[in-house]
Amino acid sequence: MAGRLEGKIAVVTAAGQGIGRAIADRFAEEGAQVWASDLDAAKLDNPAFADARALDVTDTGAVDAYAGEVGQIDVLANVAGFVHHGTILDCDEKHWDFSFDLNVKSMHRTMRAFVPAMLHRAKNTGGTASIINMSSGASSLKGAPNRYVYGATKAAIIGMTKAVAVDFAARQLRCNAICPGTVDSPSLQQRMTELGKKVGSYDEAFDSFLKRQPMGRIAEPREIADMAVYLASDEAAFVTGTTMVIDGGWTL
Ligand code: NAD
Repeated sequence: MAGRLEGKIAVVTAAGQGIGRAIADRFAEEGAQVWASDLDAAKLDNPAFADARALDVTDTGAVDAYAGEVGQIDVLANVAGFVHHGTILDCDEKHWDFSFDLNVKSMHRTMRAFVPAMLHRAKNTGGTASIINMSSGASSLKGAPNRYVYGATKAAIIGMTKAVAVDFAARQLRCNAICPGTVDSPSLQQRMTELGKKVGSYDEAFDSFLKRQPMGRIAEPREIADMAVYLASDEAAFVTGTTMVIDGGWTL
């Protein structure tokens, strides 16, 4: 089924690879006008994107200027995020601040910059505007080993999502979080390669990721993107403040 996002204008951050790329691609497939951005603009090579450019979501000035140029939108997908590996003992203040800046404050920046235009758009179209924040199963849902500050940031995203949802529900702005389990992406491959060096081989590292998956496999980015399409679409007009868990049973 195509055309589920026909007429919608969508902004996707970290759209260069992995889950963000899959979301931007699926949004375009479903007929949205997609504004795709990433720290590395060279990765944004889908000609179906209406606009593709570099945007560092840790730069408030750049985010504000970008939002001013884009104008009114229906959908904001906040995907940028970084996985710090380690316990509290591996996390000094620099690690903490970097993770919170990229994973949490970036979403504060983009939401603050786009919410006024999203409220106008919802009023003008008579539809709903939709914010989609990428959290994780490793959050307030589950403690994952060596995901100390990562889990804290992803839990903060859930709190922030609910706060925005409750403040703007009556004005037709919806805000939801997606909580994926392990998803195949370039950064996951990099983490497995790094772990492989410690545990003996890439295959052993991959097996250790698989062992925690009740379904015996990890997800494809497209499986997460399909949920984003649903949340962006009018099918989800009554859905706000939720944490959509897509994890093959990992948090059970
Ligand atoms: P990834 O980590 O492979 O790619 C991340 C992208 O973000 C890259 O294209 C990178 O250039 C971009 N980026 C980095 N810093 C940026 C910045 N300052 N501004 C703009 N863009 C920036 O992608 P992924 O693994 O699919 O992860 C995407 C999101 O999904 C993250 O928030 C991650 O925490 C979350 N997530 C991933 C998994 C997983 O298993 N892969 C699981 C749960 C949640």
